Amino acid sequence: MIVVMKPDATQSQIAATEQKLKQLGFGYQTIVGEQRVVIGATGDQRDKVMSLALEWDGVEKVVPILQPYKLASREFRPESSVIKVKDVAIGNGELVVAAGPCAVETDEQMRKTAAAVKAAGGQILRGGAYKPRTSPYSFQGYGVAGLKMIKHAADDAGLLVITEVVEPNDVETVAEYTDIVQIGARNMQNYSLLKKVGKLHQPVMLKRGLASTIEEWLMAAEYILSEGNSDVILCERGIRTYETTTRNTLDLSAVPVLKALTHLPVFVDPSHGTGKRHLVPAMAKAAVAVGADGLLIEIHPNPAEALSDGPQSLELESFAMLMRQLGYLH
Ligand code: PEP
Ligand code: MN
Repeated sequence: MIVVMKPDATQSQIAATEQKLKQLGFGYQTIVGEQRVVIGATGDQRDKVMSLALEWDGVEKVVPILQPYKLASREFRPESSVIKVKDVAIGNGELVVAAGPCAVETDEQMRKTAAAVKAAGGQILRGGAYKPRTSPYSFQGYGVAGLKMIKHAADDAGLLVITEVVEPNDVETVAEYTDIVQIGARNMQNYSLLKKVGKLHQPVMLKRGLASTIEEWLMAAEYILSEGNSDVILCERGIRTYETTTRNTLDLSAVPVLKALTHLPVFVDPSHGTGKRHLVPAMAKAAVAVGADGLLIEIHPNPAEALSDGPQSLELESFAMLMRQLGYLH
């Protein structure tokens, strides 16, 4: 439900309405707009909130949110959310690019990559220190040592960090080293992990599950939002279909679909979306054309020797060229 306060509602009426919602057992988030205050109430018993409209001072109307996701919906927040991460704004119409290797491997690899990201105009350095690999025998990441490497390289180059957390127990540690916490496709429905990152005071990038519908994805975002963290970025990274030529089928229609349904910013990952280096530039450009707020791209100084996802990683020079082309496009 959205409780719309009257334009002349007083602070004490707003506070009393919040208090009433709490007493009735609802969670709530208050948005102070230019014209009026609206309070998003989350909970099951809709009739109780509906009655507020009749009996509570300062309330203009109560509007039900029809979708199962509430805080993520555009009904709740009609303006697109802009997420500020230090000096970078995500969702304000400027393309934001996060690039880096699949896995953090060495200081030198991260230093070279960070310099290339910065020189090309990117804002965020990516790299996994905890790798959720399909095979337990594949390289699993360097853990805290990897977090230190990516943070050091990003700080030196003047970039932000995005890195993945896989385990609820590692959330605090990962959060210490990163600006944006990444939840990978395999963990999109790991609800204890989602609740944990929902309590953080830093943005979370939620990748689409391997075979998740858009509604399931937005419900996963709702888990984070309902814990109080309003800074959620969605990332389309391809879904499993019958097609095997590409690693996944990159669902670019998800971008305009999401733009209609949610106020949250949307990234696209053309690397996992295709699994093939030569397809990445075309899909990156297409993502920008359909309205993506940002790109997450895997790049590596020497993809042939990458410990993870080499075949889909761009060489640094190809990344620089793509960034130039995106500059013309944007
Ligand atoms: C990644 O970005 O490194 C990753 C593992 O991606 P996904 O979770 O989309 O498979
Ligand atoms: Mn990868």
